[in-house]
Amino acid sequence: MNWDDLRGHRDQIEMLRRSIARGRQAHAYLFAGSPGIGKSRFARIFAQSLFCENHVDTELLACGDCSPCLQMTAGSHPDFFAIGCPEGKNEIPVSLFSGDKERRGQEGLIHDLSLRPMAGTRRIAVLDDANRMNEEGANALLKTLEEPPPDSMLILIAENLDAMLPTIRSRCQLVRFSSLAASDVADLLIENEIASTSEEASAAAGMSEGSLHIASQLLNPALRSLRLKLYDALATAVPRPIDVAKAMTTGIDELGGGTNEQRRNAGWLIRFAQEVYRQVVLQLSGDNVPSGSGTEVVGRFTMLLASRGAKGLELAMELFDRCVLAEDHISWNVAPAKTMDALFNDLARTTRIRLQATR
Ligand SMILES: [Zn+2]
Repeated sequence: MNWDDLRGHRDQIEMLRRSIARGRQAHAYLFAGSPGIGKSRFARIFAQSLFCENHVDTELLACGDCSPCLQMTAGSHPDFFAIGCPEGKNEIPVSLFSGDKERRGQEGLIHDLSLRPMAGTRRIAVLDDANRMNEEGANALLKTLEEPPPDSMLILIAENLDAMLPTIRSRCQLVRFSSLAASDVADLLIENEIASTSEEASAAAGMSEGSLHIASQLLNPALRSLRLKLYDALATAVPRPIDVAKAMTTGIDELGGGTNEQRRNAGWLIRFAQEVYRQVVLQLSGDNVPSGSGTEVVGRFTMLLASRGAKGLELAMELFDRCVLAEDHISWNVAPAKTMDALFNDLARTTRIRLQATR
């Protein structure tokens, strides 16, 4: 593992390298940015670069071949520790910070970090999901942040800075991470065999907001099949709104999950529809659109509207705007079923009225 295994974030590497070269290495860092953009991997390569025997700290490079580098890759470096929120839990149990009740203070991340380095010159700990600490965990950690053990480094990783206690935030050096470029997300989808074709990869990447995590969700097979059903419906000039809304709502139910997840999936379907109309608008305005999601439906709808001239473009823009409004409804907590009903009703009615008017 080394920096070549990481996509993007070159500015952050350079910033850390320079601050370490100036002797400004922090005891605690807070890496903040959207989920699924590589913060956690970044932290591990950062740690490995500091452990690497073939490079000095100021180079901030990892050779990948020395014993510490190999131990980091194998996850067995004696001076590296990492905890995060366990699968299926909402918060990080305090025992991961300071041990079970019976062995409180004798185990856990805080204890491990306080011991002297075994192999190298420092101990490094990574706290993934740092925004999911509860109050007890945060208090336990706060003491370590206030009086960091010598030769220790703690890296907190958080998606949402607002969810972090100000007392914790203020004791860490903040490093902000930006989203990945869509092309990087697309490459990662192929490399990790999440997408099978480059068309599929770039379509998902284009809607992923620069997050591999979101892109992978978009390629979830059940959501994908619902998306194709949606395209079929939109390809009909005037879809039967009740049927489409029902198919989408049932599909969302079948995808399962809690209220938030259902809302998120409804949001995705709306975004898919929005993306179709956006591409139609671009094509009608004469812009070249890279082929992406829903290429066929976009082509068919564009052909239909192209014959209506300026009115066709106006209609496509109106349909796009209606999808934007539906997205707002979802974020305002309107029930997904109600949002879908209203959306498909309006899309069908607007299309019917406009097409009749231009006949
Ligand atoms: Zn090395």
